[in-house]
Amino acid sequence: MENVEEENVRERKIGDFTVRIERDLCIGSGNCVNLAPEVFELDEQNLVAFKEGAADAPIDSARLEESCLLCPVDALLFFDEDGEQIVP
Ligand code: SF4
Repeated sequence: MENVEEENVRERKIGDFTVRIERDLCIGSGNCVNLAPEVFELDEQNLVAFKEGAADAPIDSARLEESCLLCPVDALLFFDEDGEQIVP
């Protein structure tokens, strides 16, 4: 049986940074996908998911951080290299 928490909270290390998705909060606005399409996508439920290969995406940290900041419902958490939460 699928673990609901694992399904709805997803995490990727991207470069030195870590992004966590809390899908329960996502309203499918697409802001993050528009700014960082190499990292995020909307799935068939219109909820944010990591794109395949997101961990290796050649994205600069400022744009990655900005894409998390743009989320209107704080569904995207961004942690620095020391594990300190920067966003939200
Ligand atoms: S910006 Fe937030 S609400 Fe919009 S798709 Fe991304 S995670 Fe979901």
